[in-house]
Amino acid sequence: MPDLADRALGAYLGFAIGDALGATVEFMRPREIVQLYGVHRDIIGGGWLKLAAGQVTDDTTMSLALGEALLQGGNAALQGLMQGDDALVRSIGDAYGRWLKSKPVDCGNTCRRGIQRYLREGTLQGPYNPGDGGNGALMRNLPTVLATLHSESAFERLSMAQARLTHHHPFSDSATLGLGWLLRTLLRGADHSVCQLWTEKWIAENEVFRFTPYRERATAYVVDTVQTVLHFLTLHADFETAMVATVNQGDDADTTGALLGMLAGARCGASQLPRRWLDRLQPATRQAVTEQTVALLDLSHALAVP
Ligand code: MG
Ligand code: MG
Repeated sequence: MPDLADRALGAYLGFAIGDALGATVEFMRPREIVQLYGVHRDIIGGGWLKLAAGQVTDDTTMSLALGEALLQGGNAALQGLMQGDDALVRSIGDAYGRWLKSKPVDCGNTCRRGIQRYLREGTLQGPYNPGDGGNGALMRNLPTVLATLHSESAFERLSMAQARLTHHHPFSDSATLGLGWLLRTLLRGADHSVCQLWTEKWIAENEVFRFTPYRERATAYVVDTVQTVLHFLTLHADFETAMVATVNQGDDADTTGALLGMLAGARCGASQLPRRWLDRLQPATRQAVTEQTVALLDLSHALAVP
């Protein structure tokens, strides 16, 4: 049985693997993937972003930016957030701003608009926007889950605060919380069958995300993203099988791959991740992810409010 540290590292490395693997076929239709690759199963870079092999995209780099802001603020900033101080949320907004100015290889429209609004006006969320139903807030929430592992209330508050900096939509909110709860459950040691039961229960309360029968849509609309991830996560117990099936669905394949990798990686632990994929990640990414995982878990132990 993997321990918590192995599961947490499995989640973050699995996330980066899915990003690097899926980016090659992002925005492609499944039929086009078959024509070009047969089954796409190797981290080879390329794609519309013309990536180097093993390079990750905004999904991973924006998560790392969030994680850095959480570590910089430390326990004092998290405690402050729980007492109504918004300093931590501002420093997350600042971190997203620095990230955007660093000219990342990719940035979704809703993320860009939200970060620019924060930089311009200093507001921590925009008004409800029916166009904010993309997966950008959900995609980067992994560091929140690690940092708040021992506090449900801090998990919920921080998830919503970082999400609303760019996305104000009920489906984005419930997806960010829902997959966050599932990740917490898996990090605590849930296996494949527990994962299936948990998902059934959550879907009963969040019907919009129901994924049976699977509609085979994997776009960046958060409903499509969640349906794709949960469909393949609950269908396949094995990390590699679930990952290959997910990214070969194409469309927002880096993000569906990253989120599938996060959940399936937490389920199996870092020690069970396919070696050929791990070895293909760029060393700097692998190191940043590994160091951040350890530091965020350390931070989570300090925060023991309910
Ligand atoms: Mg991306
Ligand atoms: Mg994407």
